Amino acid sequence: MKKYWFCIIGPVEEEELRKYSGADSLLRIPVRESFNKVFGEDEVCSSGWGITEENYLKIRKIITAIISGTEVNITCTACNGSGYYDHNGSPRCGACNGTGKEIY
Ligand SMILES: [Zn+2]
Repeated sequence: MKKYWFCIIGPVEEEELRKYSGADSLLRIPVRESFNKVFGEDEVCSSGWGITEENYLKIRKIITAIISGTEVNITCTACNGSGYYDHNGSPRCGACNGTGKEIY
């Protein structure tokens, strides 16, 4: 069964990235060349900057859940998991459709 290898590295200040043309090519090109040298042509080589510490923790939690086959349960930051914006009869949270989870 073919699978994907996933890597997140950092953190680094954005000002540091601006020193390099294309920013992510600093890492993407060496990784892609190494992969192709060992395994031949790749189908996917995806990367991007801008993942905050908060999003990194969410991504790590999601990937860990997917790999282990467990359910992903991320609390919605808009309603803090309640499913509603407040407790004064407001409608369901639009960010999570009232589930209280960002990803479901
Ligand atoms: Zn919500």
